[in-house]
Amino acid sequence: MKSAILTVGTEILFGSILNTNAQYLSEQLRLIGHDVMYHFTVGDNPGRLKDLLAYAYHDCDLVITTGGLGPTEDDLTKEMIASYFGETIVEFPEQTKILKEHFEKRHSVFTENNLKQACFPEHAQILENPNGTAPGFLLEQDGKMIVSMPGPPREMKPMFENLVKPELLRRADAVIYYRNLRTTEIGESRLETELMDLIDGQTDPTLATYAGEGECTLRIASKRKTRAEAIDAVDDMMMQVLERVGNYVFSVDDEDLEDVVLDRLHMDMISLAAAESITGGMFAARVTDKPGVSAFFDRSCVTYSNRAKMELLGVYKSTLDKYGAISPECAAEMAEGLHKKSKCDLCVAVTGNAGPNPDEGKEVGRYYIGVWYKGEVTVSEHFRQGDRGRIRRDACFNMFKQIYKVLFNKSLT
Ligand code: ATP
Repeated sequence: MKSAILTVGTEILFGSILNTNAQYLSEQLRLIGHDVMYHFTVGDNPGRLKDLLAYAYHDCDLVITTGGLGPTEDDLTKEMIASYFGETIVEFPEQTKILKEHFEKRHSVFTENNLKQACFPEHAQILENPNGTAPGFLLEQDGKMIVSMPGPPREMKPMFENLVKPELLRRADAVIYYRNLRTTEIGESRLETELMDLIDGQTDPTLATYAGEGECTLRIASKRKTRAEAIDAVDDMMMQVLERVGNYVFSVDDEDLEDVVLDRLHMDMISLAAAESITGGMFAARVTDKPGVSAFFDRSCVTYSNRAKMELLGVYKSTLDKYGAISPECAAEMAEGLHKKSKCDLCVAVTGNAGPNPDEGKEVGRYYIGVWYKGEVTVSEHFRQGDRGRIRRDACFNMFKQIYKVLFNKSLT
């Protein structure tokens, strides 16, 4: 089915609220095999709303609207839809009853304009709203379908999930199934080159690459008559992809790299400690964002000064004098010293310069990560351009990445 999403609300046009309804509905529709052709947003303007409906129905079978169903004068979505479909607005007595009960329960005064929320196009199918006062509705005419839902996401989402989705699924002629394979240490262009023939020859399943921060996602999607057929097609393509670039894939289930790392540490009960200079505790904050890490996460020392590096980690003064704190030698000693103190199975350390000024003659954005694991220290050198925040976030992400490489024995090139 070809669909359009029409969100009504001046607040969206003003930039006062983010149009999360459009994003949610687009994703939901795609998951059930719809092709979403348009996102429209319009203020409380009847003329434009009607024009957009006419435009959308040129090539869409379904329009979903959110917003503008409230009781006030400027909430005109319903009236415009009725007018477009040549329907009259009539009162639905059952809805009046429900609405009055709702007001009574809350000891609120039922005013005449509230009655508007019990009125709908005469052939509408009502979509009850247990989370608010404005019900939605569905209307079909000559192969065109419209679904109209209230604006607040906490009302709209359950309405879509419980009432609209089943209706759409009953009419669906295809199902979309997809998998996101997440890769690291391989750029988008190289990934495309490795998979060129699969990407070029694709009709179904389709293969698409998306570049992100420090990683690349590969989406394999199939649209078939049944879910089982779509799953088979995607899995078959996934095996071909894994044969070629499997070494770079850290998740076939759309997990974040840090989740993959932390899950593995947890599963194998590998105790973890960190020593943070440039990240100043950010790594520990990210680790402890995940519930259950107390099972294996022992500590993180914020060793910002040279004194702290020496006192808490046993970094040699001679190392600091000779190479400076921003050096591979210092990163290695931090990781080793941390292991001596903590006795943890895996110790990660980071040291570098987040700017804004060069430090010890080291350029802004240069940093080093040391990982102690099974008696060996691996040190890696990194460089990231940008402001302090970006450099520190990058350092944090690469700490997870270096642990991943060591844990999964990956020497990726
Ligand atoms: P109500 O019964 O609350 O009047 P309504 O259908 O008239 O419902 P609106 O008045 O258009 O809805 O929007 C109510 C609130 O819902 C907005 O203030 C906003 O917080 C939220 N909202 C509306 N549209 C969107 C959207 N597209 N994305 C995210 N939030 C939205």
